[in-house]
Amino acid sequence: MTFRSLPNDVAGLLATFGVSTADHSAGQRVVRSPVTGETIAQVREIAPSDATAAIGRAHEAFLAWRQVPAPRRGEFVRLLGEELRANKETLGRLVTIEAGKILSEGLGEVQEMIDICDFAVGLSRQLYGLTMGSERADHRLMEQWHPVGVVGVISAFNFPVAVWSWNAALAFVCGDSVVWKPSEKTPLTALAVQALTERVIARFPEAPEGLSVLLLGGREVGEALVDDPRVPVVSATGSTAMGRIVGQRLAARFGRAILELGGNNASIVAPSADLDLALRAIAFGAMGTAGQRCTTLRRLIVHESVYDRLVSRLKRVYASVSIGNPLDGDALVGPLIDEAAFTAMDEALGQARAAGGTVHGGERLTAGVPAGGVYVRPALVEMPAQVGPVVHETFAPILYVLKYSTLDEAIALQNGVPQGLSSSIFSTDMRETDRFTSARGSDCGIANVNMGSSGAEIGGAFGGEKETGGGRESGSDAWKAYMRRQTNAINYGHAMPLAQGVRFDI
Ligand code: NAD
Repeated sequence: MTFRSLPNDVAGLLATFGVSTADHSAGQRVVRSPVTGETIAQVREIAPSDATAAIGRAHEAFLAWRQVPAPRRGEFVRLLGEELRANKETLGRLVTIEAGKILSEGLGEVQEMIDICDFAVGLSRQLYGLTMGSERADHRLMEQWHPVGVVGVISAFNFPVAVWSWNAALAFVCGDSVVWKPSEKTPLTALAVQALTERVIARFPEAPEGLSVLLLGGREVGEALVDDPRVPVVSATGSTAMGRIVGQRLAARFGRAILELGGNNASIVAPSADLDLALRAIAFGAMGTAGQRCTTLRRLIVHESVYDRLVSRLKRVYASVSIGNPLDGDALVGPLIDEAAFTAMDEALGQARAAGGTVHGGERLTAGVPAGGVYVRPALVEMPAQVGPVVHETFAPILYVLKYSTLDEAIALQNGVPQGLSSSIFSTDMRETDRFTSARGSDCGIANVNMGSSGAEIGGAFGGEKETGGGRESGSDAWKAYMRRQTNAINYGHAMPLAQGVRFDI
């Protein structure tokens, strides 16, 4: 597919959202597209000290928004979902240009935003509390969920807009305002989403200015958000190194953290696995988004009886997968986000070789791909043991393959890393699959059967254990993290009994 020069393409897309030219052409932060390496915009970033006033606006908005009935707040989110539906193609394309994922995944990311809006609309008529039996006569014991305040959202480059929506759609129906600090690598999609949200605010009478605030800037701006006592909840998505700092700073002021950090996800391929199905799932899990998903499949633990059959087929897939311009419908693997990502990949492959690994692929490509982008052939690495780089997350398309002989051994390998995000097993033996999803099985937040580790739906709670941070976002009852629980004991009688039979007669 041919396109206008990327900068013109981007300017045209941003204009459709109503982002002003000054907002993307006159700033100090240079934005490059990983597709071609070209400069596509220059955005204005704020100073960390400017965050204070912006958070103040969001706090004022919260004070008004919390009084709007929850189903009306749901109507606001429904309208946001409508805007996203109407702008899916343009926003999806902008995601592809700015983050480098293939167009189908760019569109999928926007679909995920629409899906969470739909989910949140239904939720706005729920937000249930419980009523408990009281031990005292003529007493009622119940709980309510109240809006919590300003929710801070810090997001990573690889899901530049969906992560905001997982948090924001829930926060809005829960009665909170949202302050968003996106990745400094992907400010343009954030500007576009902010413009769409402001459009809805402008036509929704009860929505206060400041309900959705965008802070463009680097780590220092994120830290200003984390340190502000008017922000009771911060949802931070990114590396474990970032989460370690953010988690500690929040804990120091008793702020609540939703941490969504790095993964090192594994799939087990058992002797009874449907290998055709497994092959397709493994290919998408390990090479999709050029290995730059938190749920990317990074370790494959294969039973010795099927190892040779599966690995020989995988080698063929790795050698032939189409790599190239993600705006071109033929490519399945787009570019890495930047040079630093390739350096990290190359270093990890060097460490794998030093630890006795055999590397297939992993080389930098220059032919048949746009000049200026960082394109690599995904790497398949046969490892003699789970050592060296295998226990770390390298945010690039590297799949380490290990051999096992007993399921106990496979589960021990699967759990034997510091991260705990996603996992899966390929098996048609239900004793094995149920063991895998049991308390003695995978220790991850996500454990799939006959599927890959990536590509979660919004209906389930999303997140992981250990160094992945323990947060949960999106579906199920993840909304509770965006509200404060209040327990109410109500005496509708004339006596004053005390709990536990305590006597205090005056
Ligand atoms: P990153 O940690 O470099 O940056 C993420 C965000 O944190 C950015 O907005 C950045 O400005 C901000 N930040 C960095 N240091 C900060 C600090 N001290 N205080 C406040 N904010 C700070 O991550 P990245 O390279 O953009 O994304 C890749 C990483 O994100 C991978 O590790 C990936 O696994 C992880 N990730 C996790 C999930 C998940 O849901 N678990 C989803 C997507 C990405």
